Amino acid sequence: MKLLKDKILNQGKVVDKHILKVDSFLNHQLDIKFLNEIGKEFKEIFKDTHINKILTIEASGIAIACIAAQYFNVPVVFAKKTESKNLDKETYESEVYSFTKGKNYKIRVSKKYIEKNDNILVLDDFLANGRAVLGLKDIVEQAEANLVGVGIVIEKGFQEGGTVLRNMGINLKSLAIIDSMEENRVKFR
Ligand code: 5GP
Repeated sequence: MKLLKDKILNQGKVVDKHILKVDSFLNHQLDIKFLNEIGKEFKEIFKDTHINKILTIEASGIAIACIAAQYFNVPVVFAKKTESKNLDKETYESEVYSFTKGKNYKIRVSKKYIEKNDNILVLDDFLANGRAVLGLKDIVEQAEANLVGVGIVIEKGFQEGGTVLRNMGINLKSLAIIDSMEENRVKFR
């Protein structure tokens, strides 16, 4: 997606060789007009896939999922990373290793919001080693729902997530795949 690639080239910052900072439009400040184009693109890519729910993970996935959901006309459910008295007692849980934080954390979704046979599209901002998506997939499977697709805004193709998920037969589509990053030189596939 040209708009996304231009945005990454113009505003992205490479941090510690493996992390791309896109705080000015995706991870802190949100460029809504741009996110709207992302939402439309996901709809175009998955237009022939029957979905009735979008699942994502807090926090950065939420904005992407909500904007995309308007084009799919389906609800969004986001997995929570923190325990809270507000959360129902009955939850599906999975353990995820965080690439950016370097530690494990639990994700939880109330059993009320994923039903058996739901057709679920998972959306997220980044794909690195695939742990976040695998955690969401685990929750979808616990609920006996179907993971019908995974949409990622930025896949870092030099990390293993894309290969792992595609080898599992997951219908994974990324709007931009980065093959290498150095200082401020980003190369796309
Ligand atoms: P994975 O679970 O695939 O290893 O990592 C994906 C998750 O880690 C995403 O949900 C995203 O929040 C975060 N992440 C991984 N790599 C990057 C990166 O280069 N930049 C940013 N901003 N987040 C990343």
